[in-house]
Amino acid sequence: MNEIKKYDCAIVGGGLGGLTLAIQLVKSGRSVILFEKETYPYHKVCGEYIAMESWNFLERLGLPLSKMQLPKITRLQISSPNGNLIKHNLNPGGFGISRYTIDFELSKIAKAAGVILLENTKVTDVDYSENTFTIKTSAGNYESEMCCGAYGKKSNIDIKLKRDFVNKPLGKINNVVGAKYHIKLNFPDDLIELHNYKDGYCGISKVDGDKYCICYLTTAKNFEANNNSIEQLEENEIKKNPFLKKYFNEAEFLWEKPVVISQVNFSKKTCIENHIIMIGDTAGLIAPLCGNGMSMAMNASKILANLLEAYFKGNIRREQLELTYTNLWKQNFTGRLFIGRTIQQFFGNETLTNMFIASMKPFPGLVKKLIRSTHGVPF
Ligand SMILES: Cc1cc2nc3c(=O)[nH]c(=O)nc-3n(C[C@H](O)[C@H](O)[C@H](O)COP(=O)(O)OP(=O)(O)OC[C@H]3O[C@@H](n4cnc5c(N)ncnc54)[C@H](O)[C@@H]3O)c2cc1C
Repeated sequence: MNEIKKYDCAIVGGGLGGLTLAIQLVKSGRSVILFEKETYPYHKVCGEYIAMESWNFLERLGLPLSKMQLPKITRLQISSPNGNLIKHNLNPGGFGISRYTIDFELSKIAKAAGVILLENTKVTDVDYSENTFTIKTSAGNYESEMCCGAYGKKSNIDIKLKRDFVNKPLGKINNVVGAKYHIKLNFPDDLIELHNYKDGYCGISKVDGDKYCICYLTTAKNFEANNNSIEQLEENEIKKNPFLKKYFNEAEFLWEKPVVISQVNFSKKTCIENHIIMIGDTAGLIAPLCGNGMSMAMNASKILANLLEAYFKGNIRREQLELTYTNLWKQNFTGRLFIGRTIQQFFGNETLTNMFIASMKPFPGLVKKLIRSTHGVPF
């Protein structure tokens, strides 16, 4: 009888967190299997602005960013629903790259390095018993010694694991709808703009291939009030902001319909569940207006890869790994998530956002401090 192969590590979800973790582990000689329910390349709802803190990390993994002619983004403009505008420099800022491109390129690096990457394979459940995980998927069952959850903002697995945040009553912070288009627009390459409208905000910046990403969020309540219609939401709410009205009217939309996600949840989460170690949005999602979720996912993958290496070398046990990872995760990300969640609560509230922008405008030092508190350092 054939014995089922036991991998050193199984990773659920091949976004930026899962892919970068897989590449690091396999480069250290570990056997890694990664499950991704979609097939690369594919579009994903995301603002597609990556903070510079990730640049060197991605290049070290083998992604030649310097040769990809990517737009460098060094200026930020934020408007309130009534059109009041704050301008600020971003130092060191970020770069624009579509998820279609970056996830696909990383998936190729992962496969070439030896990761067993199963696309179009949905994980349906994960069990843990006697130092072994059994990962149940649409393509059969697999076994591993370690298992990492990198399955993003929401997944069927959260319900299976009975995670606390799943059962909280739905509200402004945990029931959000997001949408994204690629467009052509006469817009500066080095600028990211964030424009508020009633119960939502919308970001615009350049990505690879001479395109711009336009991505917005709103509460499920606001979406329902617009008959769950993207067209009505854009017409009735988004275009009330004078900047957004201009861009929506002038842009050439490259897709007929946007990619859309619902039930986006910014609630607090835990980073270990039944010995599965969570990274990226699965451990905690930062409000997109902080522009840093992708870097946090990749930074967490680096922290975890180092600890897993110590575990596989026999230097630490499973309990120590889980405890140390939890502590490091909190040290690195809790503050940023708190600020992101606080801003997310009131951004979009017309009166509060108008007041906030008006009161911050005369104090660029405060704006700088706020931006810095949502960003990290190179890792
Ligand atoms: C509207 C919006 C705008 C944003 N804008 C920005 C921005 O400009 N800059 C920034 O840095 N961050 C931004 N973010 C946040 C950023 O997108 C995330 O923080 C980042 O993608 C997290 O990476 P991840 O690897 O954790 O998850 P993801 O990139 O979401 O990857 C998770 C993967 O898991 C797969 N998956 C899910 N369930 C299963 C399953 N059961 N089996 C197998 N595979 C599964 C999914 O298909 C997906 O590919 C934004 C988020 C939103 C909602």
